[in-house]
Amino acid sequence: MLKTNQRVTFQIREMADHGYGVAYIGKDRLYVKQALIGERGSAVITKKLKQGYVGEVVCLHLQDAHRVKSPCVHYQSCGSCHLLHCAYERQLSLKRDMVCGWLKQAHLQSICVRDVVGMEHPYAYRNKVIVGFYKDKKRKIQVGFYEEFSHRIIPYQHCLLHEEVMDEIVHKIVQLMAQFRIEPYEEDRRRGFLRHVLLRKGTVTEEIMVVLVCAGTVFPGRKSFVQALSKSFPQVKTIIQNVNTRKTSVVLGEQEQVLYGKGYIEDVLLGHRYRISSKSFYQINHQQCEVLYQKALSLLKLRGNERVLDAYCGIGTIGMSIAEKVGSVVGVESNQKAVNDAKENAQRNHVKNIRFVCDDASDFMRRAAKERQHFDVILMDPPRSGSTKEFMDACAMMKAKQIVYVSCDPRTQINDLTYFRSLGYCCDEMTLVDMFPNTMYVETVVMLQRRTM
Ligand code: SAH
Repeated sequence: MLKTNQRVTFQIREMADHGYGVAYIGKDRLYVKQALIGERGSAVITKKLKQGYVGEVVCLHLQDAHRVKSPCVHYQSCGSCHLLHCAYERQLSLKRDMVCGWLKQAHLQSICVRDVVGMEHPYAYRNKVIVGFYKDKKRKIQVGFYEEFSHRIIPYQHCLLHEEVMDEIVHKIVQLMAQFRIEPYEEDRRRGFLRHVLLRKGTVTEEIMVVLVCAGTVFPGRKSFVQALSKSFPQVKTIIQNVNTRKTSVVLGEQEQVLYGKGYIEDVLLGHRYRISSKSFYQINHQQCEVLYQKALSLLKLRGNERVLDAYCGIGTIGMSIAEKVGSVVGVESNQKAVNDAKENAQRNHVKNIRFVCDDASDFMRRAAKERQHFDVILMDPPRSGSTKEFMDACAMMKAKQIVYVSCDPRTQINDLTYFRSLGYCCDEMTLVDMFPNTMYVETVVMLQRRTM
């Protein structure tokens, strides 16, 4: 049996989550941080997990030709990026290989996986930033991200995935906290005030939203704080105080108060202008989101009179992008705030053949199938956990002809594809879009068609 602190030699055979390379030591799996397929070296075992051991590289005897020096100074400690040690072109093929491996495990290797659509400049793509604060030993306020698998905040100056202005605002907030004596919230002691800051930027409009997540409602010096921040950054169009009093890792609390501006920002995606509230989901990579939606919609064969369902629709972006090409669209989404945005967005863009329902997607579909409603086309974009059997059963009951399934977690999507296959729905190819360069995540889209029996 392997022990922690033991030194072992390894050769990486495959990739796992978070950019870990997997080696086999006898029958045991060893997850080696930042090691690439084919690399050989020695590692020290740092942890035992249920599924194997974790190791850190001591030295590499054989390096992959695509290994590069990480361009980020925070890379070793931060953990938000997984692949900065790997050349971008190779990142894309690693993601493709990983998805092919999962398809093979699920006996779905007949699905042809296209090359991953990457970005020309795979940095500064995140339009959403979340940071936390703490006071260091010298009582100086530090700002940063949560370390991988922990509650420790890793201080940072600039993140390569952010546009510079986002980090400038973050550091201005730190300066204002010191000036107005606003204490960072301490999780263990449950004291202090400012828990997190969430920033969101409209890529096209350049409008920025600042959400100050506070541990209480009373915000001393609020007016001056808001004035100073909005004056320094005219792009900041709205500032919101969100109150989160719970002991939780969920960032946003229920209660919100608009301190400045309208309480939302706007952005333009594929020609439509959207209102985005703090709690609504909005894809974090604008450029690749357009690529993804265009690909998803190009998979459909449309006559122009279809009834379309946009399931897990968020603020309605996919449904709105297809509305003018079809008969009608219904969007279903469980987050009431997102549904409010979606309804408003339809009105503002004068899209008349779309309506939105706030409901659990599975409940909605079960009811719709029972009532013998029919959708010709179903667009679905569920959260990481994937969809449900109820939802998929209802798709089959309705005999929907074309289903386009967008996913941010290919593994749960592949599980669902297996179930869809048992219901008579098959797909020939999968497209991968690199929505999250430098991480192991990838977005996928497939088109499922009903086998005519
Ligand atoms: N299609 C949208 C949103 C995709 S993210 C876009 O591209 O922007 C997934 C969405 O599913 C989120 O908005 C989330 O709130 C919603 N969601 C999560 N679980 C749900 C459920 N059970 N029923 C309906 N919507 C759900």
